[in-house]
Amino acid sequence: ILKINGLQKNYTSGAKQLTVLQDVSFEVAKGQTFAIVGPSGSGKTTLLGLCAGLDTADAGTVTLCGHNLQQLTQDQRAQLRNQEVGFIFQNFQLLPTLTALENVSVPLDLQGDKKASQIAKELLEKVGLGNRLDHYPSQLSGGEQQRVALARAFSNRPSILFADEPTGNLDEETGETVIKLLLELNQDAGTTLVIITHDMDLARRTQQILRLKGGQVVSNQPVAAF
Ligand code: ATP
Repeated sequence: ILKINGLQKNYTSGAKQLTVLQDVSFEVAKGQTFAIVGPSGSGKTTLLGLCAGLDTADAGTVTLCGHNLQQLTQDQRAQLRNQEVGFIFQNFQLLPTLTALENVSVPLDLQGDKKASQIAKELLEKVGLGNRLDHYPSQLSGGEQQRVALARAFSNRPSILFADEPTGNLDEETGETVIKLLLELNQDAGTTLVIITHDMDLARRTQQILRLKGGQVVSNQPVAAF
């Protein structure tokens, strides 16, 4: 479902050019759970942005759901994301002026889904927030906000979900709830999961671990090999 080949990304800062990713190649199969680990600054977030077509590479190719992202226009990439991709970020990124229900329903509404409210309500119930529909993000705990983000990420029934440190800001117990929900989505709906994490315990609960260091792949192994 995702094929990365020879990816390179440079950033220019002042007169200097910094190579943040170098010759990164790997594949994620449909339905797989895949972790990307590595020290801070190793390029994990940059890599996720490229995989999801949020940013473009300086060399190499990204094939997502059968499409070579470089060959798509920006609009086509956005359309592919709307149809196939879900995201969760470390800092939740909920809209502060919308309620929990609206945070999930508005993106669906914008895509013309007539049942947006109903679907959003069901998803929030599924993540255990049926009694928090009208709360604003500021009125929710971190774990609750992350569960709203999860409901939103899943609202378009993505075939692949990218999560950047989904438990990074949560205590152990709340993090566990979020991980269980993610793994459940994978089990029940077959959603492919690509998770960036510092947490090796979380990484070991996926099927495959890719380790990055200094922008390069140092290993890519099935979890059984650890
Ligand atoms: P962390 O675990 O700390 O989130 P990471 O592995 O996700 O780190 P990235 O955020 O991908 O790492 O950053 C990789 C490198 O690229 C870092 O050295 C960072 O300073 C640099 N970098 C990231 N974004 C930019 C940018 N827009 N312009 C210049 N340099 C950048």
